[in-house]
Amino acid sequence: MNSPDTRLTLRHSVATLPLTNSFAALPPAFYTRLASTPLPAPYLVCANPAAADLIGLDAAALHSEGFLQVFSGNARHAQSAPLSAVYSGHQFGVWAGQLGDGRAILLGEAAAPSVSPEGAYELQLKGAGMTPYSRMGDGRAVLRSSIREFLCSEAMAGLGIPTSRALSVIGSDQRVMRETPETTAVVTRMAPSFVRFGSFEHWYQNDRQQELQTLADYVIARSYPELSDVAQPYQALLQEVTGRTAELVAQWQAVGFMHGVLNTDNMSILGLTLDYGPFGFMEAYDPAHICNHTDSQGRYSYKMQPQIGHWNCYALGQALLPLISEVDDVHAALADYQPRFDRKMATLWHAKLGLVATMENDQELIDALLLILQRSRVDFPLFFRRLAALDLSDTQGDAPLRDLFLDRAAFDAWALQYRARLRQENSIDAARAQAMNRVNPKYVLRNYLAQIAIDKAQQKDFSEVEKLLTILQHPFDEQPEHAHYAALPPDWAGKLEVSCSS
Ligand code: AMP
Ligand code: MG
Repeated sequence: MNSPDTRLTLRHSVATLPLTNSFAALPPAFYTRLASTPLPAPYLVCANPAAADLIGLDAAALHSEGFLQVFSGNARHAQSAPLSAVYSGHQFGVWAGQLGDGRAILLGEAAAPSVSPEGAYELQLKGAGMTPYSRMGDGRAVLRSSIREFLCSEAMAGLGIPTSRALSVIGSDQRVMRETPETTAVVTRMAPSFVRFGSFEHWYQNDRQQELQTLADYVIARSYPELSDVAQPYQALLQEVTGRTAELVAQWQAVGFMHGVLNTDNMSILGLTLDYGPFGFMEAYDPAHICNHTDSQGRYSYKMQPQIGHWNCYALGQALLPLISEVDDVHAALADYQPRFDRKMATLWHAKLGLVATMENDQELIDALLLILQRSRVDFPLFFRRLAALDLSDTQGDAPLRDLFLDRAAFDAWALQYRARLRQENSIDAARAQAMNRVNPKYVLRNYLAQIAIDKAQQKDFSEVEKLLTILQHPFDEQPEHAHYAALPPDWAGKLEVSCSS
């Protein structure tokens, strides 16, 4: 039995939800105040009570007319100070100049820290119309990509991986052109801050040191208050962000998450997973896998993510150099990346394999496993779930695990080593299985699952979005009634292509 929730006593309707906007208190050069563009005849696709809970919004309010109007961008919340922020960034390794919120509008911050232990969340409408930063874009987001962002944000939160959250998707029959015409939607995202590495690069590249410092001071005061009175706060900021980024990427690797577009404008200053586009989860294990069809060079492939995370921290380090002054101090902060990544990765691999102790040849055991997973293109989530059920003293029950491999002898050889290693620490089957099932998800957002939900939603049946949301919010639970959502993808899934188009 769960104990009753005594944390929240106050539940707001949309109208009474208190909103502030600390970003709006920055100088006007940081943003443009503007109104969202109304979304024709909006309808609720899906709303997320778990996210509503974080800001003290009553779950019943999610189905109110007021919610539909405010979170489609059709009505302005009385306390909101809507704005779009400017930022720049490196896209695919090349300086891209000014970007900015081309289709995102920040409404303000909701929830006092007394309501939510995580503190205030900024609420942002994505796809709510053109802004001065829209460039060639139409300011809209299509239903397909909005559902993907909504579901994946919550899937990542369920996995315990730092991420922006998603409150709702509101759709419309309005059509915009992508590869084909598609209907539009507005997804409401929540994060303590949407400041990006590219927000800093913007001021650095424009030689605006005053604004650079203003932004750094704002981020420290709001999100890293513990750094405000250290000797070198800007160096400490870089070091902390570097460490968080390294650990974030390690967590992605451990669940097989691929972001797809790790441009510096998509890198959160809080170390959150941000800007879901052509992401993917590893299925048939292949470290060279590229989830983004647009990424022909594989810059953002699975195996490249750790390096790219580091590269992006360098871009941030360069942008902060005028504040830190000494190049050596920038390097010193960035030097934290690799050890933080390695430590976290080792911890996560140990946990995935159900190992408690650290022993000398563990890395070899892990590397040997990854090699045979790759050679047999083994389904990544399925393997680790089935591995949890391994019987230490009896190979008879190995069949479901062994069957995942084309090269069964290779599996047998590895399993021999693995059992020997488990015996070295007197591993107990039941305890190990339980621990492994708490870190190896049974349910991940496979592309084909998202696609089925999207296809139905495009026919106005939103039940599958709702269902996936609830399954993915508890990815480690067995949920036997939903076991088929953990199965190998069907053959048609191999033809799915996900691109930058959104
Ligand atoms: P993304 O690849 O989604 O991170 O977007 C990169 C940049 O393009 C950001 O500045 C976005 O705001 C902008 N952008 C993407 N799609 C659109 C669109 N349909 N309308 C306006 N701006 C967009
Ligand atoms: Mg982006």
